[in-house]
Amino acid sequence: MSRVINFSSGPAALPVNVLQRAAADMLDWRGSGMSVMEMSHRGPEFTDILAETQSLIRSLLGVPENYVVLLLQGGAIAENAIVPMNLIGKTGQADYVVNGVWSEKSMKEAVKYGQVNLAASSKDSGFLSMPKQSSWKLSEQAAYVHMCSNETIGGVECHWTPDTGDVPLVADMSSNIMSGPLDVSRYGLIYAGAQKNMGPSGVTLVIARRDLLGHALPVTPSAFNYQIQADNESMYNTPPTYAIYIMGLVLQHIKEQGGLPAMHTHNQRKADLLYEFLDHSAMFSNRVAREDRSRMNVTFFLKDESLNAAFLQGAEKEGMVQLRGHRSAGGMRASIYNAMSLESVQRLRDYMHRFEKENG
Ligand SMILES: *Cc1c(COP(=O)(O)O)cnc(C)c1O
Repeated sequence: MSRVINFSSGPAALPVNVLQRAAADMLDWRGSGMSVMEMSHRGPEFTDILAETQSLIRSLLGVPENYVVLLLQGGAIAENAIVPMNLIGKTGQADYVVNGVWSEKSMKEAVKYGQVNLAASSKDSGFLSMPKQSSWKLSEQAAYVHMCSNETIGGVECHWTPDTGDVPLVADMSSNIMSGPLDVSRYGLIYAGAQKNMGPSGVTLVIARRDLLGHALPVTPSAFNYQIQADNESMYNTPPTYAIYIMGLVLQHIKEQGGLPAMHTHNQRKADLLYEFLDHSAMFSNRVAREDRSRMNVTFFLKDESLNAAFLQGAEKEGMVQLRGHRSAGGMRASIYNAMSLESVQRLRDYMHRFEKENG
């Protein structure tokens, strides 16, 4: 068996020992005589798996008591509609900060459910930075302020927690949740698909302050109503049981490695390695504002783009895959989430160094 070094932006690489655990459990989970995929979601076995996964989320992130933790279907793109359906009704308005493709998509979807105000944007400068807090034009009437904490395509991360006063802050954290410590109490609601940093696709984590629930628009489908899902322990409809199980294994693995402070150190070291190389290279460069560079998605360009294909082919020959940038951004992107090892990132840096010497 040989495994590639997978720089995919998502679904992304998972820890090998998690995959091995899942393989060992495949036919018979802990003596139950069943695969997790075959379990009733209301049976005692899956009830334990769900409770374990939720308790790991709460302990790793330090989720305060007055927040609910939901594990739902639909992914972050569905949340672009589910969030406004549940929250905008209080005042009929919401503010959006746009710093990349994902937050722009969120805003476009929200328009269907109420009045949406653009509070700040970095679109004019090509989504290469996080708009400074001082530039945010917040409205008093907003039911919430929406942002994306890590723009996966552009490689722009918000390294500070915005202050939105009494208006709840809502964040799409799909691509940087669990990458380091987080003060959940500064947010009204956090959502994230699992397939970047904490599991397979199919399960969406929603952490919401309890007092924000109960104001859903009448059109809100019951399965997408946070209050109904909270009242039913995320089991109003059948939850994505197998994805939740794998997520539990990933979170257990994170815990054993030292939790989120250890993840932060690990991720920072990997990102520093690549950015330091890029800053000293004559052939490769990163275009994102220094203070807003993502620790998760390192985007870079070859000065001579006619070498792009040769660069990707050479990487693939060495077992490094999925380095092509998103089609809307061009260039290259190395996604280096929690499960990516420092050694693998060193391999990439060494390859880039060699490629530059041979082609420069
Ligand atoms: C991947 C991603 C999404 C899309 O998630 P889906 O699972 O396709 O709905 C949304 N937002 C961000 C920040 C992402 O990284």
